[in-house]
Amino acid sequence: MCELLVHQFRCRSDNFGLLLYDPRSKLCASIDTPDGDTIWRELGAKGWQLTHIFNTHHHYDHVPGNEMLKEHSGCTIIGAKNDAKRIPGIDELMEDGDKYDFGANKISMLETPGHTLGSVCYFIEPEKILFTGDTLFSMGCGRLFEGSAELMWQSMQKILALPDDTQIYCGHEYTLSNAEFALEVEPDNLALQQRTNEVRTLRHAHKATLPVSLATEKATNPFLRSDSVEIKKKLGLQGHPALEVFTAIRSLKDNF
Ligand SMILES: [Zn+2]
Repeated sequence: MCELLVHQFRCRSDNFGLLLYDPRSKLCASIDTPDGDTIWRELGAKGWQLTHIFNTHHHYDHVPGNEMLKEHSGCTIIGAKNDAKRIPGIDELMEDGDKYDFGANKISMLETPGHTLGSVCYFIEPEKILFTGDTLFSMGCGRLFEGSAELMWQSMQKILALPDDTQIYCGHEYTLSNAEFALEVEPDNLALQQRTNEVRTLRHAHKATLPVSLATEKATNPFLRSDSVEIKKKLGLQGHPALEVFTAIRSLKDNF
């Protein structure tokens, strides 16, 4: 095992650029490519050579730099087999549970459909780093553009099964507006109030609110808390299954 570095920076208006670097093997991966020029500049500033791109899904703000970065670096582009036709320049296809050798580490793909049918997360064990793309945001989850609430809820279960000290990196800085919604759903949640205060301070200082631990998300993210008695009470869904509560929260958020 070798310590990996993650460099996170702003791309476009609210996307995150994410570079994963292994100092021992000197391999460097970009998680999605929201803006090729910005990513290329950050690579140069770090002195890292891009060797891989791991795409989380096909949306226009996650793949637009794929071809330009591949042309400049000769990197390998990896994505979901399910989404192969929609990921520009894709070279290697992975499926749920597949592991990709990245130096001494392995990067696992978790298929997490819901936001799109081909959406995936990447998990690195034992470093416990998770890249969620637009599937999970801090205190939120992705809109259901292609999948059903049921599919997304199943995807949430896969994330919930990871270790509590997993560090989560997401595709967008949506945390503050998600927190405002979460407080509507669960106004008396102390952990949520505390995290919201932290997030306000970070945003005020123009700092990123990510990464965040899975433990914090379990305590504050209403979409991961669809089994919470408090939330069920607030929504008038006492005794209803978590999937129904999740579906209700998702539709409230769509209209928030
Ligand atoms: Zn998306």
